[in-house]
Amino acid sequence: MRLEGKVAIISGGARGMGATEARMFAKEGAKVVFGDVRDDLGKQVEAEISESSGEAIYVSLDVTDELSWQNAVDMAVSRFGKLDILVNNAGIVYNQSGDDATVEEWDRLMDVNAKGVFLGIKAVIPEMRKAGGGSIINISSISGMIGQHRIHPGYNASKGAVRLLTKATAIQYANDGIRVNSVHPGPIATPMNEASRADPEHYQNSIDSTPMGRYGQPEDIAYGVLFLASDESSYMTGSELVIDGGYTAQ
Ligand code: NAD
Repeated sequence: MRLEGKVAIISGGARGMGATEARMFAKEGAKVVFGDVRDDLGKQVEAEISESSGEAIYVSLDVTDELSWQNAVDMAVSRFGKLDILVNNAGIVYNQSGDDATVEEWDRLMDVNAKGVFLGIKAVIPEMRKAGGGSIINISSISGMIGQHRIHPGYNASKGAVRLLTKATAIQYANDGIRVNSVHPGPIATPMNEASRADPEHYQNSIDSTPMGRYGQPEDIAYGVLFLASDESSYMTGSELVIDGGYTAQ
């Protein structure tokens, strides 16, 4: 198993890619603490994982709140003894663009998508140092690399922040054996974009922008995250793993 003996925290794990990663990590032998603000869904995923004999605990986690992060780290260490992996996956998006984009949305995007990642990193570093190293995976987006129509520009700005926060952190903690990499998904079919996929114009635009001509699945991203979490990627830090069906190749 690729994560045997590892302890991981995953944010935003109640649905979408985070839930897929929690299931995959548990299947690969990791002990998983996953958190979200959607407690009912999170508890369902927890039950599913234990039915398939994986080890995973759901915790209420608001990534914008420092104390909430500390609680998740304390849970990992008290239940499983240490911490090796953090996946900063929680995120939100707004589709309003141009003049319709509001300041309130900008602030919320920055809070959840950018500050949430900073707080997650800050919370896990002391335990990763004690463990002698670790792997942090920050879920950015192709929106952290290029601009797009029909999306709040604050989303691109927040995901661009995650991209460079990753590189800064990678350099600052390389000597502690802590690796930090970012993942850049293209359009992936998850609950986040259920409404926009149902809009024929938006759907067609995503398909036309993707050379492979389809949305990706959460597993397409989870396999990349699994690789970065495992020791198979032990010489990688500060890098960007793009999984986008060719979207940014054009
Ligand atoms: P999703 O909406 O299905 O899942 C995101 C989860 O994050 C939800 O369960 C949500 O409750 C949780 N969350 C939101 N705010 C939170 C908070 N303050 N604290 C804790 N949890 C919170 O979305 P997804 O598509 O699975 O997205 C996962 C990540 O991938 C996000 O960071 C997203 O921006 C990024 N991403 C998604 C796509 C895509 O096409 N779906 C593309 C590129 C990047």
